[in-house]
Amino acid sequence: MTDLTMDELTSLCKRRGFVFQSSEIYGGLAGFWDYGPYGVELANNLKKVWWQSVVRSNPEIYGLDSAIIQNPKLWQASGHVDGFTDPLVDCKNCGARLRADHLAGTDSTDLSELTAILQDHACPVCGKKTFTKPRYYNMMMKTWVGPIEDDASVAYLRPETAGSIFTNYENVRETTRSKIPFGIGQVGKAFRNEISPRDFIFRVRELEQMEMQYFINPKTQDKFYSRWRDFAWNFLIDTIGISEDSLHWHEHDEKERAHYAATAHDIYFKFPQGFKELWGTHNRTDFDLSNHMRVSGKDLSYYDDQTQERFTPYVIESSVGVGRMFIAALVDAYDEDEVNGEKRVVLRLHKNIAPVRVAILPLSKKEPLMKLSHDVYVLLIKSLDWNIEYDETQSIGKRYRRQDEIGTPQCITIDFASLDDHSVTIRDRDSTEQRRVKIDDLINTLQKD
Ligand code: ATP
Repeated sequence: MTDLTMDELTSLCKRRGFVFQSSEIYGGLAGFWDYGPYGVELANNLKKVWWQSVVRSNPEIYGLDSAIIQNPKLWQASGHVDGFTDPLVDCKNCGARLRADHLAGTDSTDLSELTAILQDHACPVCGKKTFTKPRYYNMMMKTWVGPIEDDASVAYLRPETAGSIFTNYENVRETTRSKIPFGIGQVGKAFRNEISPRDFIFRVRELEQMEMQYFINPKTQDKFYSRWRDFAWNFLIDTIGISEDSLHWHEHDEKERAHYAATAHDIYFKFPQGFKELWGTHNRTDFDLSNHMRVSGKDLSYYDDQTQERFTPYVIESSVGVGRMFIAALVDAYDEDEVNGEKRVVLRLHKNIAPVRVAILPLSKKEPLMKLSHDVYVLLIKSLDWNIEYDETQSIGKRYRRQDEIGTPQCITIDFASLDDHSVTIRDRDSTEQRRVKIDDLINTLQKD
């Protein structure tokens, strides 16, 4: 791994078609980004392996895909309308609006503590010491539903995917005839009107989350809290291929915890701007279900026939952002080395997530080589559920460099000898070693690698 600054990552992502500023030709819009051809493949792979490991690999966990806009009472009951806030300060001189806790360099969101720290602070934009007192600012994005724009038609874009998991808890439990413990997983967009979106796709206003809520008997909270903490840690290392040295645990203290959490442990990743939150595991207790019972008047308690007790389930939440995992995967995979005396940039991405799994590179554009190369391409796309690229432009050296830079684990070259021996060359991204394989054995070999 070679260290990368956020600017270098941003420019690599643009240059190689991973991420573009949204509406760039109009100057962009702060906090919004578009995923390009390789970015969408990488992000889809991250979501796919998460879904496979969380939803499909656990018989007691089910999937959900809910609407982004829900009845606003959901967000009143969940405490988001009143409590989903960040502390904000304005610079009276230049008008800059900034996150008070970030400016103060603390995890605390306590207003009196922040006022004390920021008393003598200079504005990073204009240098003047003229901040307003910190105040809370709600991050929910609002819209109106229907033709009349008044208070009665206000609705919110969901700030987290979890909310509708709680309101569907009883639907899912009943239709799947589940007993506790069981879980519901969801992947989808969430919106937060972040005061200062920054650090590329690390802090955005439109984000995508992968969340799973695990409904349990309160007596088992310690056991399941550890299980989902361990899951997150191991998933990052084994499935995404992130090195353990780039990760550490961070426990939220009382001042940092979200309004719904009794305990919260984040996995911090070594992002270019420092160690920051990547993945949260939270014990939300019965906070959400109790509040939904109170506000909706529906009984969401659970009767356990075995222990013959009635209780409101506790919830252990596992929550991670696709964008933050995307940066972590790229930053951890980024490397620079030398091949045949030339510097090369290589993304050592795990083959589970690489945007292009295999590239087919014919050595010449002449027939009948083109036909054979095309036949190999068709054979692979029909047999394998992978993103496979076909590239016949430029010299072979340049094409290898290009594939290395987007993290393609294997390239297949087809040359004139292939016409006689019905074999192709597989070149490995990391070692750059090459080996000859019969076309008849190609699919088997690639699947085993
Ligand atoms: P932070 O403290 O960095 O603002 P948070 O504690 O508010 O994050 P959670 O509410 O726990 O985050 O959200 C779960 C996950 O969603 C986070 O671990 C992160 O990966 C992702 N996430 C949250 N906010 C954003 C954002 N504005 N942009 C990108 N990803 C985000």
